[in-house]
Amino acid sequence: MPYAVISDVHSNLSALHAVLKDIERRQEVSAVYFTGDVVGYGPKPDECIDIIKEHCNICLAGNHDWAVIGYTDISYFNENALKASLWTRSVISDEHIEDITNFKIIKKMPDLNAMFVHSTPDAPEDWKYIFTTSDAEHCFQHFDHQFCFIGHSHFPGIFEKKADGDIVEYKGSIKINETSRYIINSGSVGQPRDGDPRASYVYINGDFI
Ligand code: ZN
Repeated sequence: MPYAVISDVHSNLSALHAVLKDIERRQEVSAVYFTGDVVGYGPKPDECIDIIKEHCNICLAGNHDWAVIGYTDISYFNENALKASLWTRSVISDEHIEDITNFKIIKKMPDLNAMFVHSTPDAPEDWKYIFTTSDAEHCFQHFDHQFCFIGHSHFPGIFEKKADGDIVEYKGSIKINETSRYIINSGSVGQPRDGDPRASYVYINGDFI
C-alpha cells in the first residue's frame, strides 16, 4: 500500500496542514510516518505535536525534540536554534514533554522492508548527517532493509545502492529497482533549506518514490 514519510516540521503549523492536505489528496495513502523534529524554530509546538500524534503511524524524535526535553547537548546549536529551543521549553505543555519523551529515535518496520531514523542508522543519537555518497556508503552498512528513511539535513534526496555496489544520488521522483537499496531523505515540512521554499515529503507507491 502507498505511504508517505514526513520530517522536520519544526512547529510550522501551516506547512504541516498543507502537507497533510496534499497527502490526503492522494486518497490511497495508507499511513504517514514521521522521522522527527516536530518542534524547534516555529511558533506552534503544542499544536504540531497534537497533529503529528493524531495523523502519524510512527512518531520519532529528532535532535531539536531531544533538546527541548534536555536529552541532548544544545551548546552546539546556532543562536536561532538555541533561542527557539529555550522558548519552546518555556511554553510547551507537560503532556507534550511526556509525548516527546516517549518518541523513539529509530524504528524498524519489517513489513515495509524499511527502517526510519531522524539522522543516521549507525548512531542515531550522535545526530550526524548524510550529505555525500561516501556518507551514504558508510550508512548502507548499518541497516539490512531495502529502505532507510531519514530527515535532519532538510535537503530532500535519494541515494540508491545498486546490486553491483554503485551508489547514485537523485533528486525528485524515481522508479524503485527491486535489486537496489535506498536511503531517502524526505526533506523538511517546516523549514526547507535546499533553496526551494516549498515543503517537501516522500510519497512511495510501491513502484515509485
Ligand atoms: Zn530539523
